[in-house]
Amino acid sequence: MGANTKEMIRKYNLRLTKSLGQNFLIDDNVVKRIVEAAGITDNDLVIEIGPGVGSMTVELAQRAGKVIAVEIDKRLIPALKENLSAFSNVEIINKDIMDVNIDELSGGRQFGNIKVVANLPYYITTPIIMKLLEEKNDINFMIFMVQKEVAQRMVAAPGKKDYGALSVAVQYYTKPEKAFDVPPHCFIPQPEVDSTVIKLNVNETPPVKLMDKDFFFTVVKAAFGQRRKTLVNALYNFKGLQKTKEEIKEILNQLGIDENARGETLSILQFAELSNLLFKSI
Ligand code: SAM
Repeated sequence: MGANTKEMIRKYNLRLTKSLGQNFLIDDNVVKRIVEAAGITDNDLVIEIGPGVGSMTVELAQRAGKVIAVEIDKRLIPALKENLSAFSNVEIINKDIMDVNIDELSGGRQFGNIKVVANLPYYITTPIIMKLLEEKNDINFMIFMVQKEVAQRMVAAPGKKDYGALSVAVQYYTKPEKAFDVPPHCFIPQPEVDSTVIKLNVNETPPVKLMDKDFFFTVVKAAFGQRRKTLVNALYNFKGLQKTKEEIKEILNQLGIDENARGETLSILQFAELSNLLFKSI
């Protein structure tokens, strides 16, 4: 299969494009480990983002009820079709994933699970993950190859240097779990960074109760937008919220949060309590 990827690239005379994050997996073992970690069965609809020439798509199609593969680069489609010609349960869509409505794509609940699998293009990792988390859809599980640092940010705990708005968003919507690391030599061309495969089990119910989800994320962004400032100053300087420093301190006191705390030390529960109290007071 790895050999097949190289063969397909040669056969179709493909020039891989850096700006589209085209680092293709050539290590069969890594492909198999991702598919195994996804626990695919015939009760699953799998959406693969960026199938490339289809090395992972073939493995997915052998196990899943159906695979929908969304690839932006039309030059790859003929090779992808050839690789998947033996499968009747694969649909190939030549589109930018950012323009795809997952809910429409999955077309009702024919399958028990909707799983997203991707060796993601690194130039657009966070926007893709945020889109999948934020839009209304029935995805239960996602597994992604991402840059190692991004995986670290997704699983980071409060107070750690990697903890930020992405950690809070990912941990609000899912339970993230690192699966394994993948070195650059498993790809062509080799990326300049190490990679990690990460699993995101989507929460059926959120871990905290929010009065207003948009407001919660606005507060989180404000708190991390000015990392070096204390929470009081970050919230005071934040335009959407017209509060005096005294009022902000009063709210922090009510929650038992130190007046000099920085946003990066707050847990999701504390962010939830804070945003709920601020929301009530506006
Ligand atoms: N799945 C293949 C593999 O593992 O060898 C290719 C992975 S490569 C890291 C990322 C793939 O995503 C490329 O095929 C690229 O063309 C595609 N891609 C990049 N941006 C995309 C987008 N916005 N929507 C859909 N596919 C995209």
